[in-house]
Amino acid sequence: MAEKMLQFTKVSRAMPAKRPPVERASDFGEIYAGYTPEAAEAQASRCSQCGVPFCQQGCPLQNNIPDWLKLAAEGRMEEAWRVSSATNNMPEICGRICPQDRLCEGICTIEQSGHGTVTIGSIEKHITDTAWAEGWVQPIKPMRERAQSAGIIGAGPAGLAAAEQLRRKGYQVTVYDAYDRGGGLLIYGIPGFKLEKDVVERRIKWLEDSGITFRFNTRIGVDRSLSELRAEHDTVLIATGVYAAKDLKCPGSGADGVFAALEYLTASNRVGLGDVVEEYESGALNAAGKRIVVIGGGDTAMDCVRTAIRQGAKSVTCVYRRDRANMPGSQREVQNAEEEGVVFEWLANPESILDTKAGKVKAVRASRMKLGEPDASGRQAPVKTGETFDLKADMVIKALGFDPEDLPALFNEPALTVNRWGAVRIDYATMMTSLPGVYAAGDIVRGASLVVWAIKDGRDAAEAMHKAMKAADAAAKVAAE
Ligand code: FAD
Ligand code: SF4
Ligand code: SF4
Repeated sequence: MAEKMLQFTKVSRAMPAKRPPVERASDFGEIYAGYTPEAAEAQASRCSQCGVPFCQQGCPLQNNIPDWLKLAAEGRMEEAWRVSSATNNMPEICGRICPQDRLCEGICTIEQSGHGTVTIGSIEKHITDTAWAEGWVQPIKPMRERAQSAGIIGAGPAGLAAAEQLRRKGYQVTVYDAYDRGGGLLIYGIPGFKLEKDVVERRIKWLEDSGITFRFNTRIGVDRSLSELRAEHDTVLIATGVYAAKDLKCPGSGADGVFAALEYLTASNRVGLGDVVEEYESGALNAAGKRIVVIGGGDTAMDCVRTAIRQGAKSVTCVYRRDRANMPGSQREVQNAEEEGVVFEWLANPESILDTKAGKVKAVRASRMKLGEPDASGRQAPVKTGETFDLKADMVIKALGFDPEDLPALFNEPALTVNRWGAVRIDYATMMTSLPGVYAAGDIVRGASLVVWAIKDGRDAAEAMHKAMKAADAAAKVAAE
């Protein structure tokens, strides 16, 4: 082990510099700067190179974290990048947006000893940002081209990871997406202050340069059918994510000025990408000068409140029915939101949306809650205290989560089996759906989850698709002899 390592008693944990709240609230740039090379090396040297690296167990991709930390500490960044990118298709993206406090960093051994976790995500970001800057990331050149082809439905992280893995093996890969750009929620869901869009666009361009074909503005089930894709390709992957917004079930929820979170975030991201968005131009989806109430306590809600701040809202309040300790969103994001001026109404549940005679939203009436007995999920269930209060609002954003769309109906494939929530069922040993040769990965299988899990699923599906195509190819050759 290099003497460089085990420095956690001498070198304090230091995240990259965070821009001051007033400055960052006025634009959509990322809030964290990058490390300098010296700082990245020093932070990596804090790792104690555990014999049993818990951090690796906490990473869904089982990244070889201690190995690339050691290489980074020794200034061997290109080797660090090679190790890091061997198990992760988008390390610079995961380094930015994984909730590390719940994954790799949450169980870092030196955190348990009170020294503060190794800043794994920020170092991972530094390694791959350096690789891009130095020109080490070159387009894929497969060892050999194969005639077999894969059709991938969805250009989100699950579809993109699968596309890359298959292309590396020499398959002809076409990715179909309903949107006009690739990236899925990376491009239109997650705001720029967490993940700047050129980081995503750079990946898509690199995949194109690697020989992957993208067919945008193509909604499968509408513009092309699943059966056409199955006839055209040797294998098909469904990686369509989950987009049916859970609705607010209370009187007045249809009032003018009540919007779904993704409608709001997509409009904001499009504006940031230079598109003209009519609903933004008209002011309907622009928070400027308005009192905004966001309902929900997950990461989508955090992205909405912080977007509203940046659009120049008069006030932004987040209403959530449990308390801070029991919210599903990352604590780091709540802290960032508070710093930027968001007010949280914990233990508050919307009872009705009050509107004007013209049907325009004017307030949210909420019940004050307290935490009762644990429910089926093991979390304490919120129960009403009997007290209500009103929050004035010009715009209400519903951020209550997402369900899968009805894919058997959309794809006109009743034989595609889904679970009771509508997520596509797969055999986890083969990643295959009930339709032969059709696989599925990402949120459409798991329900709304995380980017890193979508990448993991995409990689697993690609491996299974490769095995099946290789076997089919071998069988065809035997038959032809
Ligand atoms: P998606 O990213 O949803 O991509 C699916 C793609 O399929 C889309 O491009 C869509 O247009 C396309 N598609 C859908 N239907 C069709 C069709 N019929 N035909 C053709 N194309 C179709 N995760 C994190 O790890 N960190 C975060 O900070 C984070 N923040 C988030 C913030 C928001 C606002 C949201 C909504 C989610 C966030 N997530 C975050 C979750 C993460 O974005 C998802 O888990 C991940 O993107 C899922 O990847 P996916 O490839 O399965 O689906
Ligand atoms: Fe941590 Fe995510 Fe990177 Fe894994 S992919 S090491 S969980 S930041
Ligand atoms: Fe290093 Fe922490 Fe992983 Fe141990 S758990 S190998 S200290 S990053």
